[in-house]
Formats: sequence, C-alpha cells, structure tokens
Amino acid sequence: MTYATLRYPVPSRYLATLALPVWMTAGMMPLHAQGQKWPANSMERPRPPVVSPGPVGSPVTPPGDAIVLFDGRSLDQWQGGPGTPGWKLEDGYAEVVAGGGSISTRRHFGDIQVHLEWATPRPPHGTGQDRGNSGVFLMGMYEVQILDSYQNDTYPDGQAGALYGQQPPLVNASRPPGEWQSYDIIFRRPHFNRDGSLLRPARATVLHNGVLIQDGVAFTGRTVHGAEAKYSPHADLGPLTLQDHGQPVRFRNIWVREIPSTEY
Ligand code: MG
Repeated sequence: MTYATLRYPVPSRYLATLALPVWMTAGMMPLHAQGQKWPANSMERPRPPVVSPGPVGSPVTPPGDAIVLFDGRSLDQWQGGPGTPGWKLEDGYAEVVAGGGSISTRRHFGDIQVHLEWATPRPPHGTGQDRGNSGVFLMGMYEVQILDSYQNDTYPDGQAGALYGQQPPLVNASRPPGEWQSYDIIFRRPHFNRDGSLLRPARATVLHNGVLIQDGVAFTGRTVHGAEAKYSPHADLGPLTLQDHGQPVRFRNIWVREIPSTEY
C-alpha cells in the first residue's frame, strides 16, 4: 500500500463502521489471545483440552548414562530435614508422609533430562489443590506441578503439568488416581549477568504420560504462590526436590541425565 493509497480520502462515516468491529473484537477477545498476562492462579483462565494418554506401561528403563536417583529400594540419594527423609518406602515406591517435609537430592544439577513416575491417592480425597498435590522442583526452585487433575478442576496454572502459577499445560493428559503417570522433563537452567540481572530464563519442555504439555516454556521466575514470580540470581547448580504438600503421593523410577548447555 502506497502513501497515496493511504491518503485516499475515505468518508468519515465509512471509517466509523470499519473501526467499530475492530474495537468490539479486541474487547471480546480472551486475554491470552491479546497477548496479555493472566494473573497467577486465575480461575478465569481457559482449561486445557483433555487428552487421553495411552495405558500405563512398564517403568521406563534408565539409559546407560542416567544417574538413578530412586530405584524403588533406597532414598539414600535424598535428604529432607535433619537426618533421613520421613517418607514411607515400600514395595518399590516412596510415598509422601504429611509433615515429613519435601526431599531433595544430595547431588545438584543444572541442565538435565528428568524422568519420574508418580501416582496420586486412590480413592481420591479433597478437591482442587487439595487432591494429590505434590510437585517436582528443578534446582529446588522451579516447580512442575503434580496434582490429581483427573476430573478435578482447579486454576489451570496449578493443574498437573503446569509450571506452577505461571503456565498451564498445553493439554490435560492425566490418568485416573492410583495409576502410575510419568513426567519427562528437559530443563535448561537460567543464566544471570554479573550484575545479577537475568540473561536467559529457565526453560522446561515436559511430556506427561508421553504427551507434550510444555514446549520449551520459559519460567517467569522462581515458583511462588499467589504472586508474580521473579528471578533472583543463584548458583549454577541446584537439587531436584519433591514436594510434601501434605498428601500421600507416590513416586518411583526417578533418574536424570545431565545434558550439555546450549545457547538458547
Ligand atoms: Mg505442588
């Protein structure tokens, strides 16, 4: 379009009829379509579509270069409060004991691939956030939410597979309570400038039961509840942490692979 075309005189009554639909459309568009940010924990946010994952398979065998963090027999690689973790260990899985505290790996990591399997209580108890709540914290700070999100509504940035308080999963690929579910996470740590400002945010790609639910999504900061997340500079390595949210969520088959850093 040339300048001359732009300057072509359009009667003002036509301009008004053209402008009206544009204004109306913008006003009716959902916030996310306008590129606006949703406030943390908004119940107004659209629910991700439900996708039925395949049936539960055998535990995924750790590849040759994996660091096995939990093989169902020992929590030696984890620490909680003072002394040993207060979690229940039996029959090939570890289970949160309310008040036992969150547990973290003794070893610390930066960029990693994580595999873990989890199951929420059956029969389910509670609703919303009080139903099978736990979480996996990358570097002990950036949470991928664990929740019983099978026919259990909550705010979308707090459902299973959400980057908690920030980004809902693309779809809800939850299995029913009591069934083993998996997360495969590719995590890129954040980078900070010398002055402490953020150079590159942390990012996560997540598959839930083999279904892509987060595609290289940037964390907007350290996970917080009910507030806007922010970054503050920290060490290049941190532990993997499993959350005690007071509900008996089970874990098995946890392993990681350290991956080379990239420039993105
Ligand atoms: Mg949680």
